[in-house]
Amino acid sequence: MASATLEGRSVLVTGGAGFIGSHLVDALAQDNEVHIIDDFSTGRRGHVHPGATVIEGDVCDPAVVSEVIADVDLVFHQAANASIKRSVDDPSASHRANVQGTLTVLERARRTDARVIVASSTAIYGNPTSVPISEDEPTTPTSPYGVEKLAADHYARLYNELYDLDTVALRYFNVYGPRQACADYSSVITTFLEQACSGQPITIEGDGSQIRDFVHVNDVVRANLLAATTDRVGEAYNVGTGRSVSVLELARLVADLTDSRGEVIHVDRRPGDIQKSRADISKARRDLGYEPSVGLHDGLAALVDGDGTVRRR
Ligand code: NAD
Repeated sequence: MASATLEGRSVLVTGGAGFIGSHLVDALAQDNEVHIIDDFSTGRRGHVHPGATVIEGDVCDPAVVSEVIADVDLVFHQAANASIKRSVDDPSASHRANVQGTLTVLERARRTDARVIVASSTAIYGNPTSVPISEDEPTTPTSPYGVEKLAADHYARLYNELYDLDTVALRYFNVYGPRQACADYSSVITTFLEQACSGQPITIEGDGSQIRDFVHVNDVVRANLLAATTDRVGEAYNVGTGRSVSVLELARLVADLTDSRGEVIHVDRRPGDIQKSRADISKARRDLGYEPSVGLHDGLAALVDGDGTVRRR
């Protein structure tokens, strides 16, 4: 059975200065030798654990990846353009980071036989025929980002089939938690919290009936650690909670927790927006022993409290 603790390993976290990558590095740094490759396009130096060795560089550059990969036996590949909007604005740049970057990592890992855990996404499913979404759901992405992540997900499987490389693809649903970017491309939770805390109305795209499965970054980190030790390689797993809320319910929850007026305004939905998303996590439960531990109310309350530490209420 997979274990959620790693010790004495030498690992590479690509994108280790980013939101998810930096939490992964925090979980690993004390008991493992951790290397990071990050180009700091969205990552921040202040998020990087002081115990990690940082290489500033492009994950698409084989020389950069080769330099580090020779010393590691495990790679958590998080580096990517993680923004759907940016992929729509500039598909070529996004394709390069997300597809070429993944291929470069897998190709270098093949030469040293390092296991690679690839960050895939719920965006590969597009608008699902039904929820909850199992891994067998047809994949019809509605954005360049979704197409790119689907290619990365397939490459992970293919490198296992063709070259017997240990790979696992983790299909993250809507991840949230401390350090998530507060920029133009921020997630709906960060946006709502920013708006509510600064006394602005909460902006909902469409009528707010769209549902999402919000998974706390601590649970995503645990899924990665379990994937690092599982013997069920060459597989893809949904990483969500199996629960969903509507965007309108989320807005009310945020208003409640921030004691704000809760004024909501509706704007046009963006093209390609998904109506329903909720993960079926039974495969990850069965094969990895994955169990989400942070409920949405607790995770949001911790963000509102400021230090991001999740305490049960
Ligand atoms: P993020 O933008 O915070 O992190 C990405 C990191 O990769 C950043 O530090 C960035 O500087 C770095 N990076 C980008 N391009 C690079 C390149 N060419 N070379 C080296 N470094 C590069 O995003 P995140 O939310 O932490 O996402 C991490 C991974 O999880 C991504 O692969 C993303 O597609 C995936 N994912 C995220 C979510 C989510 O809800 N946040 C959902 C599904 C999948």
